[in-house]
Amino acid sequence: MPEESSAERRVKILLVDDTPENLVSLEAALGGLDGELVLANSGKEALRHLLNDDFAAILLDVRMPEMDGFETAELIRSRPRSRQIPILFLTGYRNEEHLFRGYDLGAVDFLFKPIVPEVLRSKVAVFLELSRSNAKLKEQADAMRAQAEVLQKTEQKFRALLEAAPDAMLMCRNDGEIMMVNSQTEVLFGVKREKLIGQNIRMLVPAWSAQASRGVELMAMHADNSPFPVEISFSPLDTEEGQVITSAIRDITERKKAEEQIRQLNANLEERVLERTEELLRSNEELQQFAYIASHDLQEPLRTVSIYAQLLAKRYRGQLQGDADQFIAFIVENAGRMERLIHDLLDFSRVDARGTDFFSQTSCEGALDDAIRNLRSLVDESSAVITRDPLPVVAGDMVQLTRLFQNLLVNSIRYRSADSPRIHISAQTRGGEWLLSVKDNGIGIEPQYAEKIFGIFRVLQPRDKSSGSGMGLAICRKIVSRHEGRIWVESELGKGATFYFTLPRK
Ligand code: ADP
Repeated sequence: MPEESSAERRVKILLVDDTPENLVSLEAALGGLDGELVLANSGKEALRHLLNDDFAAILLDVRMPEMDGFETAELIRSRPRSRQIPILFLTGYRNEEHLFRGYDLGAVDFLFKPIVPEVLRSKVAVFLELSRSNAKLKEQADAMRAQAEVLQKTEQKFRALLEAAPDAMLMCRNDGEIMMVNSQTEVLFGVKREKLIGQNIRMLVPAWSAQASRGVELMAMHADNSPFPVEISFSPLDTEEGQVITSAIRDITERKKAEEQIRQLNANLEERVLERTEELLRSNEELQQFAYIASHDLQEPLRTVSIYAQLLAKRYRGQLQGDADQFIAFIVENAGRMERLIHDLLDFSRVDARGTDFFSQTSCEGALDDAIRNLRSLVDESSAVITRDPLPVVAGDMVQLTRLFQNLLVNSIRYRSADSPRIHISAQTRGGEWLLSVKDNGIGIEPQYAEKIFGIFRVLQPRDKSSGSGMGLAICRKIVSRHEGRIWVESELGKGATFYFTLPRK
């Protein structure tokens, strides 16, 4: 059940008289008033009632045995709970001294016997009314106090929150006038709180604007006028006093420094990469030039060594002493080997030398046919079976694409397993390019060597008479990259190898 408010509760009036008939006539006179009448026939009894109850007024007979009206009033007044209750004295005679004593004791009025009921009624009615409006006022005051307490607690919480924030927090009006700051603000700007309240926030952050709503980076000023970068986030709030803007300000000096360092490092890195690339290009070109010149110029003298060694072998076989015949045979064999190496190196350095003039619409099927034709005897003697899917026409160098297929086919046959070689060539489109593959059933390659084998003079098997110079795949890679493609192998030892390469679709 909702608690009855004190204003609605029935107010009480205490009637005190030692003569029962008087009490009866008082009761009769006040009948019908909106108040509860409580009767007492002595001062003592009246005090007992006052211990437990509050009254809107007390009607007190002056002349009573034992404790008269004045004595009773004195005791009533001495107790805080009943001090404020208005007392109306009922008395038989108008005596000045009597009246003074009464008013002294805080009487609000005197009523003279014989009591006129109408007068009594109207006076008591006023007290009832007064008591009611008093109660209402008190209720309102209580409510306001409670509200103020809630407000105060909220503000305390808000301040605690503000203080706990890691950023400098400032609340200001729309025009920038500072209303509240936290202690981080004092630390960040080196200015005391008292000196900030009422000032404009622009003295700290000159470019501060009430319009900015999201986080922005601005410059702020320390107390000594030294500038530093900050990040501000704004939260505007519409209040009764107009818009209030809370700005959370964070010092980002360190962050900016780090960003600048990263920027500088990146710039340096970029510069160094460019320099290095240029260097590499230059040295690559020089190396190519060297390889070309060396292999080209070495060919002649080597040819001479080879021819004379062969001549020696032919003319003087069996006529020289000791191991001479065997030594000459070594010279002949290795001179030949060296000729092949130089020949392949020259081939390699020539791949780039062919300009794009040789590029035309080239049928890969045609290139493959030529390659197989060049390898006729190797294919026949190994009983290799070569199959193919339809192959595309591409913009390329016919001679080089033939060479590409040829090198891959040679390897597939050369590195065959115990089974006779089966080789399949296929092509498919992938994005803007063709993906071609040459798949065999040979000995395969350990994945760890998948990249190494494309290097110059890289071989995995020990060299013998039948092995190549290790230039085959290096030349393949160079040809493919001249055609703006890539080449790689997928394989496992003992499971055959598939060489893939891409060519642009134009
Ligand atoms: P080489 O002249 O030795 O054949 P390549 O550059 O053509 O030189 O090949 C490099 C090495 O890669 C070869 O020595 C071989 O070990 C390995 N290789 C190349 N193709 C295949 C293949 N189809 N199957 C297995 N191994 C291969």
